[in-house]
Amino acid sequence: MKLEIVQAGDPVLRQVARPLHRDEIISKDLQQTIADMLETLRLAPGVGLAAPQIGLDVQLAIIEDREQYQNSWTKEQLLARGRVPINFHVLINPELEVPAGETVEFFEGCLSVAGYTAEVARHSRVRVRYLDERGDPQSVEAKGWYARILQHEIDHLNGTLYIDRMNSRTFMTLQNYIDRWRNKENSTGCLSGS
Ligand code: ZN
Repeated sequence: MKLEIVQAGDPVLRQVARPLHRDEIISKDLQQTIADMLETLRLAPGVGLAAPQIGLDVQLAIIEDREQYQNSWTKEQLLARGRVPINFHVLINPELEVPAGETVEFFEGCLSVAGYTAEVARHSRVRVRYLDERGDPQSVEAKGWYARILQHEIDHLNGTLYIDRMNSRTFMTLQNYIDRWRNKENSTGCLSGS
């Protein structure tokens, strides 16, 4: 079932989500929620969706970056972003660890701030420990765009939106970004002259 994605201004997006217990994770209800979130994410379409975005204040998010989403970008743009397809997976009660390293700035958007985008600095590498949909512990070391998605989704579970971290002078409509700016970014993603 397709779910409604709540928009900025809904208080649930500003709450710190609560961790899920193992019994809840393996419950039918939660498994159905995960299936509904995946359907909603694919229809949006988007590469990540956190439970607060569908009105639930629990530490659950899903990620999927499908190959076909990458068609509108050039090889150079994908390479600069370190963007490769990421298989669907579920993150529950994630803990983000940021090794010392650089940050990178690229434009990102959010399904809960629909129609807008801005440049956001993110750590280029992260490690995340989390539980999967069976409640089993997992750990992932991620870089590039995948690391950005993980940081964005985990921010949602802490009541943070990308607009809290953005370079505010780069905030713009998605349409203006596509029409005027997307192909003028330099190789680091920064706007020329910004
Ligand atoms: Zn978002």
